[in-house]
Amino acid sequence: MTRTPLPALADAGLTPLSALSGVGPKVAEKLAARGFATVGDLWLHLPRQYEDRTRITPIGHLRSGVPAQVEGVVEAVEKGFRRRPLLRVAIDDGSGGSLVLRFFHFRAAQVAQLAVGTRLRCFGTPRPGQHGLEIVHPSYRLLDREAPTVLDDRLDPVYPLIEGVGPQVLRRLVGQALDRLPQGPALELLPGAILESLEVPTLREALLYVHRPPCDADIGLLASGCHPAQRRLVLEEMLAHHLSLRRQRIALQAHRAHPLRPGPLASALQAALPFALTGAQARVYRDVLKDLAARRPMLRLVQGDVGSGKTVVAALAAAAAIDGGRQAALMAPTELLAEQHAQNLRAWFEPLGISVAWLAGKVTGRARTRVLGEIASGAAQLVVGTHALMQANVAFRDLALAIVDEQHRFGVHQRLALRDKGADGTHVPHQLVMTATPIPRTLAMSAYADLDVSAIDELPPGRTPVQTVVLSAERRPELIERIRHACAQGRQAYWVCTLIDDSDEVVAQAAQTTFEQLVAALPGLRIGLVHGRMKAADKQEAMRAFKDAGIDLLVATTVIEVGVDVPNASLMVIENAERLGLAQLHQLRGRVGRGTAASSCVLLYQSPLSRMARERLDTMRRTADGFEIAEKDLALRGPGELLGTRQTGLAEFRLADLARDADLLPAIHRIGDVLLDSRPDLVERIVQRWIGSAARYAAA
Ligand code: ADP
Ligand code: MG
Repeated sequence: MTRTPLPALADAGLTPLSALSGVGPKVAEKLAARGFATVGDLWLHLPRQYEDRTRITPIGHLRSGVPAQVEGVVEAVEKGFRRRPLLRVAIDDGSGGSLVLRFFHFRAAQVAQLAVGTRLRCFGTPRPGQHGLEIVHPSYRLLDREAPTVLDDRLDPVYPLIEGVGPQVLRRLVGQALDRLPQGPALELLPGAILESLEVPTLREALLYVHRPPCDADIGLLASGCHPAQRRLVLEEMLAHHLSLRRQRIALQAHRAHPLRPGPLASALQAALPFALTGAQARVYRDVLKDLAARRPMLRLVQGDVGSGKTVVAALAAAAAIDGGRQAALMAPTELLAEQHAQNLRAWFEPLGISVAWLAGKVTGRARTRVLGEIASGAAQLVVGTHALMQANVAFRDLALAIVDEQHRFGVHQRLALRDKGADGTHVPHQLVMTATPIPRTLAMSAYADLDVSAIDELPPGRTPVQTVVLSAERRPELIERIRHACAQGRQAYWVCTLIDDSDEVVAQAAQTTFEQLVAALPGLRIGLVHGRMKAADKQEAMRAFKDAGIDLLVATTVIEVGVDVPNASLMVIENAERLGLAQLHQLRGRVGRGTAASSCVLLYQSPLSRMARERLDTMRRTADGFEIAEKDLALRGPGELLGTRQTGLAEFRLADLARDADLLPAIHRIGDVLLDSRPDLVERIVQRWIGSAARYAAA
């Protein structure tokens, strides 16, 4: 993309922070560490909450948990030492209540200041103490006994902390930055017609309101993030992300790709399958074929719940590439998954005379040299592997289709790295990305604006739904009996251990303990263990043994892999299920119910359950629909958790909340179309304003 030079006017926001008074090299360094380089970055550092110092609340009217400002005279001071130093200051304002200010750290000078008879104004959140309400470490100021006191005339913003920059300093810097807010087109990037049609304030009005709300502002509305001024900022932020992804897509599609059409191989493969495609698979396959037939590269995400049959669709797409005399590659995030794909694809393709190559880290020496040779010569028509496919010495003769499974485990860069394996200067491969994490439509629209999305939203026929039971942990002994019984009948089971402390070590220890208990309780069974502390090879070995039915019961932490298919496993126990998020519970439960036997999933919980936890477990019991679960999860936890923000390379929003603000998406798409069409200069500036510094942050 070429950058349109910015007009000089636009530079107010790009003024370096060193132009502000109070920003020496040291403060500048602290700010830079958090991605703040310009005055404009401070405009977008938005308050987390507000404190209302515009009024004084009589002590008698204070309510526990409600922040307030009070004024009173010190009535008594007690300095003590109970395990740690303690200063208690009782103040009185004659309104009939009592209030104690409590300090745990304080200096001698402070004690001297707070003598009986001193008049104070302080701000904080009262909580019940030993003798009435208390405020711990209030902010306070001494007042002159005689002079009349002045109140603030607007709400005080409280900013997210920046390490090494005090809150007062930060507030002053933001204030100075705001004083430099320009008027008109130097700041406002959205065309006036759009602002009018949406009935939102200008950026200047919005920023001034959010940073300096007037004293009659509705704090409750501001706290909900739904004030029109906030909506204006959210709109622009979401627009910036949308534009950035759309731009990326335009850049990718500026390349050419070889059009691919299904021929005899694709037909033969489809005819040889032991089943007919489901309606959803057929529909998605049609989407894919349409993309492949074009001269520009396909960029398609296929999402479908575990077991929905994504692999077949990928295989048929690969067949089309091979029909065209070119190569296809499929990359999976773990060796076990890649191996499983290699097995399936070999079983489908080799009888049709197609050669399938396998490449992973552990393919070494002569074998590796041979595989690399086959990939380079084109003798390998389909290549299946792990990250190893992206290594520098892997060269394809003519890669026309790059398929990436379980997208979340790969970053965007890795997706592109595989694509680049097929770039020959004039053409790039088509890309097909598959994910088992159902993504709510709203989230997909914003997170994957660079991809087209198809959903396989139907399971193949003949699956018996997994029955989900929620049980108190007290009933563990009964459950152990049930496992004994199931395994005696040749079924296999998972026992998943989770803990609130997510450190690998603690969870591994808990899994080890559970393993030992179960070994003692179930002497006749073959029991295995996998956890994150084990060597990769040992983990794979245990998983493989389970897959080959050499183990009856597998005790595991949540490391058991996404996508691993053990059709004979029909019982899963998840301990402390109340501590897991919905997406994770759903993924785990997807490990069972992959065969024809009736399967069950037992969610064990520790009482008492929080309201949120109860809601999650209820959702799990009620539905198996991954999309419904994902919508619920988005509402309960927000998009970061759902997408694994770090792994997707998706920047966090400063302000927007997809669950709350999804209704803005249609407008954002509309504005996006208009701007991309006619105002590339504005697109550049909007992306730069909101994401430029986030990109710097990521690089730091
Ligand atoms: P996922 O979407 O989780 O990757 P897979 O592609 O591994 O699912 O498919 C799960 C299982 O369903 C496999 O054993 C596959 O052969 C089988 N399968 C896929 N499509 C169909 C279908 N249309 N009818 C019956 N079984 C199918
Ligand atoms: Mg799969």
